[in-house]
Amino acid sequence: MTTNVKSLNDLIELASAKRFLDVEPAEEMGLAEPLVFPYLSIVGQQDMKVALLLALINPHIGGVLLIGPRGTGKTTAVRSLTDLMPVVQRSRCEYGCMPDDIETSGIDSVCPNCAQRYAQGESLTYTDQVRLFELPLNSGLEDVVGGIDERAAVHQRLRLRRGILARADQNVLYVDEINLLGDDIIDAILDAAAQGTYSVHRGALVATYRARFVLIGSMNPEEGRLRPQILDRFGLRVIVRGLEHRSDRLEAYRRTMAFRNNPRKVIQEYTEATVLFRDELELARERLPQVTLTKQSETLGLKLIKELGVDSLRAEITLFEAARAYAIADGREHANPQDIRTVAPTSLRLRRSQFMQDYISSVSKEEAEIHELLKTKKRSPEKKSQRK
Ligand SMILES: [Zn+2]
Repeated sequence: MTTNVKSLNDLIELASAKRFLDVEPAEEMGLAEPLVFPYLSIVGQQDMKVALLLALINPHIGGVLLIGPRGTGKTTAVRSLTDLMPVVQRSRCEYGCMPDDIETSGIDSVCPNCAQRYAQGESLTYTDQVRLFELPLNSGLEDVVGGIDERAAVHQRLRLRRGILARADQNVLYVDEINLLGDDIIDAILDAAAQGTYSVHRGALVATYRARFVLIGSMNPEEGRLRPQILDRFGLRVIVRGLEHRSDRLEAYRRTMAFRNNPRKVIQEYTEATVLFRDELELARERLPQVTLTKQSETLGLKLIKELGVDSLRAEITLFEAARAYAIADGREHANPQDIRTVAPTSLRLRRSQFMQDYISSVSKEEAEIHELLKTKKRSPEKKSQRK
């Protein structure tokens, strides 16, 4: 794989520099498949574009939360990722048996069918592209985690049906307006995202599902807040604002209209760059395990976190994992202090909890009082004994 392009930013800028000056007339096409706006055609919004790509390169970053008002292209950007999705190995079996299970826990860790297939040298997996799942806004907890299969219940059998989280395994899950979901649903999604598995208990039935997905959430702070402890559970947090420069706004308008009038033409114009870009991302994912942090970048990262007064260890995980992803996207196998500086704002913002800070300061005041009291209590018996 040889290209002249060195970094994610180069790639984004190279492709985004393409201008759309002519708007072609509309064509009749009776669209059957959804056509997505090319990622590389999105004007500006560098922070958002880079954050989304880093999350695809390194799932350990812990997902992305896009925060901003409506109409700033959050959903468009997420949907545009479809063309850039990497490939993964998926299980051929409904129980999700994987060859790794056999390698780590022996042949009994897979179902009898898969054990037989494995013994015959057949593959338990197939190669598939990562897909984008969108959580419908009106989803209930049962839709999300799964529940009793009603079709099976009619035949007086009890069976569990997979929920959205299980189907999102090894995919990207997009939750638009996450701040409008019920707390129980948000908690289920975040727990599954953090652990990579979840269990459903319904009466005597228990099922455990794999749920290793990259979580992308979006929220409009004008329409309801997100609990502070939830903000901390997203890896990267991007503040998405409207485009600032008039020329960018005009260009964004032109590209939007060009796409609305003739989406296939626009997609075609970006196909070559998109394919190149996807290959670069795939390569970055493959090489990620080799990337190390330099001593200086570790020191800088820890210093930033300490000075900001962030308690959560998720700060270190996201900051360092994002810096590693950024370095490899730039073609380097050492993440340096500049990588830390680049990813620090999205990794560290909105992690401090005002509640915890107030709580800790009130606790330490009380703690000081207790210590003071203990000192005087200790002194008094001594004095008495001296008097004797
Ligand atoms: Zn199986």
